[in-house]
Amino acid sequence: MKRQKLFGALDLGGSFLKFAYGNTEKGIIYHDRIQIKEPDNNDFIFDAIKQAVNIINKHEQSVKTFGMGTPGTVDVDRGMITGITPNLPNIQNIAFKKEIEKNNNIKVYLENDANLMSYAEASLYPSQSVLGITIGTGIGSGFIYQNDIFRGQNYSAIELGHTIVNLGGRRCKCGKFGCVEAYSSANSMLAICREEFPNLEINNIAHLLKIGKENKEIKSKINLLNSYLAMTIANAVSTLDPQVVCIGGGVVEIKDFDFDFLKQKIKGFLASNYQCVKIVKAQFENRAGIYGGILIAESKYLEHNLLYK
Ligand SMILES: [Zn+2]
Repeated sequence: MKRQKLFGALDLGGSFLKFAYGNTEKGIIYHDRIQIKEPDNNDFIFDAIKQAVNIINKHEQSVKTFGMGTPGTVDVDRGMITGITPNLPNIQNIAFKKEIEKNNNIKVYLENDANLMSYAEASLYPSQSVLGITIGTGIGSGFIYQNDIFRGQNYSAIELGHTIVNLGGRRCKCGKFGCVEAYSSANSMLAICREEFPNLEINNIAHLLKIGKENKEIKSKINLLNSYLAMTIANAVSTLDPQVVCIGGGVVEIKDFDFDFLKQKIKGFLASNYQCVKIVKAQFENRAGIYGGILIAESKYLEHNLLYK
């Protein structure tokens, strides 16, 4: 029997580089991660990538085509990161993809990480339009339309985290005021609750959600912050009219996160003609990025080989 071709994935975050290989048929065969010791030093990032590729190639020498996710706006045609990336401040406007390809003798398809997460989740709903949202330290999102990632004219489409929900509101990392990311991301929820409840000791986001289960005041604050998120998602549904809305990320995976509240809030903000939209929890959890990388590498490889056969 002919062996199925395998594809690699790299998912670059502020603290770790996740990496994997697999394919559509077998899913993720192997995955691991490497810590990025100095995220503001590109040498450490390129070294981590080299290590990851070497590990994968020790397992499977044939893996030469990679899908790679990074934060920020990704110009997929030039293989460069153009938007702001607060956690990896020096990766913008350099020939990122070319450098990785040259150093490792591989082919790389670079993509925004939230787009890859959405792409992975959308594979569970073949041929349907899927809006993906990931809530972690920030808020990322992507839209899969006609089996492809919708990127817009400047590769900046579907930046739901930076839609404004409050006029003259809190300052966001992007420099604007009142973005939903400044209210509903893990970092913002923590910051707001620590400011408003200074006597309460809040260790982290999981702890905050746990406190919310018993403390009515905290619960209503968390609900308010999640209502901003629901409003944003409902507005996006009214604009894009997707078949599926898939919500994931570190915050949503916490067991005390009230997914039903969020879902009901979104429905409450939607007109009757949008009520048929499916609102689901993301399935691939923290492996969505790497699985999306494998899928995009496979899809691009097949596309390329059909074109040039
Ligand atoms: Zn913003």
